[in-house]
Amino acid sequence: SIRAPATKKTTTLTVAVKCRPLTERERGRDIVRVNDDKEVLVLDPDLSKDYLDRIQNRTKERRYSFDYAFGPDSANSDVYKRSISSTISGVIQGLNATVFAYGSTGSGKTYTMVGTQDDPGLMVLSLHTIFDLIKKDASSDDFEVTCSYLEVYNEVIYDLLEKSSGHLELREDPEKGIVVAGLRCSKVNSADKILELLNLGNSRRKTESTGANETSSRSRGMTYVYHYQAKPFTLAEAFSSMGLPTRSHAVLEITVTRKQRNKYRNQVIRGKLALVDLAGSERASETNSGGQKLRDGANINRSLLALANCINALGKQQKKGLAYVPYRNSKLTRILKDGLSGNSQTIMIATISPADSQYHHTVNTLKYADRAK
Ligand code: ADP
Ligand code: MG
Repeated sequence: SIRAPATKKTTTLTVAVKCRPLTERERGRDIVRVNDDKEVLVLDPDLSKDYLDRIQNRTKERRYSFDYAFGPDSANSDVYKRSISSTISGVIQGLNATVFAYGSTGSGKTYTMVGTQDDPGLMVLSLHTIFDLIKKDASSDDFEVTCSYLEVYNEVIYDLLEKSSGHLELREDPEKGIVVAGLRCSKVNSADKILELLNLGNSRRKTESTGANETSSRSRGMTYVYHYQAKPFTLAEAFSSMGLPTRSHAVLEITVTRKQRNKYRNQVIRGKLALVDLAGSERASETNSGGQKLRDGANINRSLLALANCINALGKQQKKGLAYVPYRNSKLTRILKDGLSGNSQTIMIATISPADSQYHHTVNTLKYADRAK
């Protein structure tokens, strides 16, 4: 039998905000910073009076509060320890969990999830913890850990662990629930090579420039103007220092299967941890120069919107009791269903940039994260 301990009925949702440091290019020009003790994004009045004069006419100070807030000096390990490590230990007990990074392009999603050699991200740290916990576990249970890494791009699923993956389909398995047919699911025995594997997988991810359908919207000459800048600049310019927008969602799924053996029972417990590096959120929340919402269906990422709707529903569920969570509306939410329902934990890391050029995105992300609560 496969079961998870029924300790909780509803899904818990935790929202953390993480602000990255300024990049080299931004340094010296940007003047918004985060106060990491408190959940407030503050303008630093010392840095530029000119900026404050410009922005004063258009914005009031906004305050949001979240479960956790991490400033530019926080390492990924700080985020990990404070906001998700306790969740990860549940996974080897058979709990399901989802951790995802939400934010605009260049806000630090991939850095937070994958990270670097010096500052390994949540995907890497989680896997390390899982192996540490298994090593320390005093029971005689057998453990098996498997990983898969996929991307959802334009509602098509690809295997990031395969060199040239074809389209993969979702199937309903009577025992395992929703599965991706043909997805490589590798048995892993340590967390050693995971960073390399993730970087290799990420190099296969689709970005704006490689998406055949996506480039057309740009060649139609869409220009994004940021009102709060003295000199308006385009989306392309804003992105120039941050790499190309990622249009796909990357999902690392770690499954821990635990075979309990003693003279009373012989059972299998399975815990699943999904770690998701979402597509850039800018299109989903972007407003153009006229302040109108983009309506072009091709520009709006269906999976991202569907996830947003699920998160909103989970937030309501947490506050007011049961609410319908609309999983079925996209590939991503179907894949994540187990980690977004039942007795599972969902952690959203909203990533933001301290740069003034990203102010608009930052506000959108904070509003979104705020609504999720
Ligand atoms: P995203 O995946 O959201 O598009 P990235 O993770 O690629 O954004 O981050 C954009 C840039 O900012 C990268 O150059 C990355 O190295 C840098 N960066 C992000 N977070 C941090 C951080 N905490 N410390 C140092 N550099 C960071
Ligand atoms: Mg990225």
